[in-house]
This record gives sequence, C-alpha cells and structure tokens, in this order.
Amino acid sequence: MTDRLKDKVAIITGGVAGIGLGIATCYVREGAKVVLTANHNVDGGHAAVAKFGEDVSLFVQQDVAKEADWQKVIDATVAKFGRVDILVNNAGIGGVNGAIEDLSLDDWQKVIDVNLTANFLGEKAAIHAMKDTADAKGSIINVSSVAGLVGLPFAPAYSASKGGTRLLTHATALNLAQRKIAIRVNSVHPGWIDTAIVPEAARKQIIAGIPVGHMGEPEDIGEVCVYLGSDESKFANGAEFTVDGGQRA
Ligand code: NAD
Repeated sequence: MTDRLKDKVAIITGGVAGIGLGIATCYVREGAKVVLTANHNVDGGHAAVAKFGEDVSLFVQQDVAKEADWQKVIDATVAKFGRVDILVNNAGIGGVNGAIEDLSLDDWQKVIDVNLTANFLGEKAAIHAMKDTADAKGSIINVSSVAGLVGLPFAPAYSASKGGTRLLTHATALNLAQRKIAIRVNSVHPGWIDTAIVPEAARKQIIAGIPVGHMGEPEDIGEVCVYLGSDESKFANGAEFTVDGGQRA
C-alpha cells in the first residue's frame, strides 16, 4: 500500500537508528515527510536523509530531555515542511540494569529523563504546534515497551519509565479529548526488537522466551505506527498497541 500518510509531517525522535529508522522507512514509503532527531548519531542522521531524500526528510540534532531542544525541532519542522501532524516519541535508552538497592539516583534519573520526561516535553511542544495548524488535528505515538505493561526484574528504572509513559498517554488522550481537541495519543509496546538496545550477552535467552522464536524487526513497529499516524486510526485514542511475537499472550 502507499500514500496512507500522504501530506503528513512527522517528527520521529531517535529516528536515525533502530526502531526509529524502521518507523521512518515505513513513513516515507507511505508518503510522509519525516523529521528525524538524535542526540549524538549525527552521521546516522545524514545517512538517513541521503537515503530518503532531502525533499522528504530532515535531520535535527536534539537531546529529547532538554526543553529548549524541542522548540528547535518544532521550528525547523515548520520552517521546512510547514506543519506538524504526527509526533513519534521513540528515543529511549536501556540504562543501568541490576538490583534496585544498588541503583544510583543519577542512573535512575537519566532513564526517567530520556524515557519519560522527554515524552512529556515532546507532547507539550507538539500539541502547541498541532493546535497552530489550520485543521488543529494530530496524532502522538509514545513508544513504551512490554516493560511498561509488566515489570522487568533487572530493569526497575526502565520499567518505571515505560509504565509512566503508558499512563502519560492515557491521561493526555483524555485531557485532549475532553477539551474537544482533535489530537489523539496512543502508546506502542514493542517486545524484543533486534536493535542496538538489546543486551548482546542475553540474546540467546531472550529469543528462547519469545513464542514465535525470533526477535522482531524495526519495521514491525513501523507498520503499527503507520496505522496510528494515519486517519485509519481516527477512533483509536488512549490505547495500547502491543507488538511482541506473542510474549505477553
Ligand atoms: P536504539 O538504541 O537502536 O535507538 C535509540 C535511538 O534513540 C537512537 O537513535 C539514539 O540516538 C536515540 N536517543 C537516545 N537518547 C537520546 C536523547 N537523549 N535524545 C535524542 N535521541 C536519543 O534503540 P531502539 O531499540 O531502536 O529503541 C527505540 C525505542 O523503542 C526506545 O524507546 C526503546 O526503549 C523502545 N523499545 C525497544 C525495544 C527493543 O527490544 N529494541 C523493546 C521495547 C521498547
């Protein structure tokens, strides 16, 4: 299928690698214009724009946890493509794993800042920009995790950040809907997807726990984000979309 996202402008944080790049690939295929952000991977950003084409893609360096960087991303998006229709809050980090009593406050805070607070900052910036467009419509997609539905025993900060994202999604969706603002907010909960975030030493054990017998590909998440970004999902709001090869079944 093509053109499911024709004329839509999407910001995809962490869109230059892993799941974010998979989402961007599906979005460009469906006719969207994409703004890809990352904090450090500038080479990945330039490579993605070279692959997709400057007419449909833009890279902006951004630390999602910094509020000032969000205005920079919105301004660059509106300057190049004229509007913001979709925000995919995808950027995230795994952080330090281990026993909770050994976790430092700094390590806890870093994960919460990048995986949860950044999603609040992104929602805030995007809602202002979406309300400024002529039709005042939009779709926000928060990439949580299966770890936002059930606790990962070795990753307390990560699970807390992803669980927080899940309920931030619900609360924002209700808040907007009750004020008759046509911006939908949903969360996506990937299971294990083959990217750099997967701990190398645990791959065999991870795969053994996935009912379909293999990890997912970044585009598996991209496809559900196409649906949520498009008008096909116009009645989907405040909902959770799990894509995990049966892990939670
Ligand atoms: P990844 O490490 O391959 O990519 C993460 C991306 O986020 C990178 O592009 C990186 O540059 C960017 N990023 C990290 N910190 C940032 C910051 N402060 N500001 C801006 N960009 C930043 O990981 P991934 O697997 O593609 O993860 C993408 C999202 O999916 C994350 O939110 C992750 O928690 C979630 N997730 C991944 C899996 C999995 O198995 N891969 C499972 C569930 C959820």
